[in-house]
Amino acid sequence: PATSMDELVSLCKRRGFIFPGSDIYGGLQGTYDYGPLGIELKNNLKAAWWRAMVYERDDVEGLDASILTHRLVLRHSGHEATFTDPMVDCRNCKSRWRADQLKDNKCEKCGSTDLTEPRPFNLMFKTTVGPVAEEGSFAYLRPETAQGIFTNFKNVVDATSRRLPFGIAQIGKAFRNEITPRNFIFRVREFEQMELEFFVQPGTDDEWHSQWVEARLQWWRDQGLLSENLQAYHQAGDELAHYAKATVDILYQFPHGLEELEGIANRTDFDLGSHTRGQADLGLSAKVEPNEDSTAKLTIPHPETQKPLVPFVIEPSAGVDRGVLAILTEAFTKETLENGSERIVLKLKPHLAPIKVAVLPLARNKPEIVEKAKAIKALLMATGIGRIFYEDTGNIGKGYRRHDEVGTPFCVTVDFDTLGRGDDASLLDTVTVRDRDTMSQARIHINELATYIRERLV
Ligand code: ATP
Repeated sequence: PATSMDELVSLCKRRGFIFPGSDIYGGLQGTYDYGPLGIELKNNLKAAWWRAMVYERDDVEGLDASILTHRLVLRHSGHEATFTDPMVDCRNCKSRWRADQLKDNKCEKCGSTDLTEPRPFNLMFKTTVGPVAEEGSFAYLRPETAQGIFTNFKNVVDATSRRLPFGIAQIGKAFRNEITPRNFIFRVREFEQMELEFFVQPGTDDEWHSQWVEARLQWWRDQGLLSENLQAYHQAGDELAHYAKATVDILYQFPHGLEELEGIANRTDFDLGSHTRGQADLGLSAKVEPNEDSTAKLTIPHPETQKPLVPFVIEPSAGVDRGVLAILTEAFTKETLENGSERIVLKLKPHLAPIKVAVLPLARNKPEIVEKAKAIKALLMATGIGRIFYEDTGNIGKGYRRHDEVGTPFCVTVDFDTLGRGDDASLLDTVTVRDRDTMSQARIHINELATYIRERLV
């Protein structure tokens, strides 16, 4: 794995995975742009999550709620009052810091210990809605995707006739005005989340919580993260958010330390209880603020008594960008080859690789080879396995190195033998397939190529 963030940042920029946001104007702190390969990796990761959460289960529905959010949603969710981090000012150099991230209570810029007392700083971004900037015309950019799921609870239940237990899954952008964004895409101000809200009957919540922790750990392992770099951390009582009965963080050994990749919380009936109308009659177990604004009763029939019930919710909430960072960290490998040279290879799981196959013509100035290589690209494209890249640098060694560095599982080379013009005429219509990890090469007939590759891409 990568041992320093710098080597990842450099590879990401050089090969087109991730660039600093607004780069040509000096950058906008806490924003990053995903380049040609980064977008493929990110899309593949999100698709793997959606597949595991929605397609492979029978108890989850999908949702894509809006980012702009009514202030009442974020008032009743508790965010207006409590979605804050403790901030301190350095009296010496006037910089600002998140108090709980400072080492030895020292300003990171000037080293001064002359800091103000911490005060709460709300992390939500506000924006004006409509052409008139008057009181009341603002909305928030959502700080998490979860609230859109809670506010659509009744819509989804009415539309699908779901009964407990069931979940709603969503992937999308979230925004937090982090006091100090840092560590590349680990802590940014605009990011993506993959969140599931899984609604259960109270009393079954502990069991479901443990099941989801196991399922999520296994999923991250399936994405290539090694068990030895993952840890399930059970938050202690005094660390828990006010609404949570229990929270398990999945930590990953990032280059900058062992840090949170995903949080899996048992949020009881706090969220639906906070957003529902008629709170008093519902026997809520969470302590909620009164709500005179909501127009909907967020209940579902109790599985046994059929009486209206506000279910408990288990929430596995993962960061897409932190996922991408973890996967890049794990995959990054520096190898010394037998001839003493060094190669960098991204050992990505094939389903995550931005490019599945590179097709290389041995010579780019030989029309017949070029034509054949393009036909093979088209043939592989038609199988729908993902991005197939026609790589015509004309230098096979260079092509292999480039594709090792971006994690392309297979390179297919078209040469004179393919055209039946080599020493061995039986090689007509065969190509060389090189494996990224072992660097071994196999001679495969074009008719068998798609099957050969597809079998090895899972
Ligand atoms: P942290 O303590 O690191 O600020 P958090 O506990 O506030 O994170 P949650 O509110 O639980 O994070 O959000 C769920 C997930 O969203 C996190 O596990 C993380 O993967 C992702 N996430 C949260 N904040 C950021 C951010 N600023 N940049 C990138 N990803 C983030």
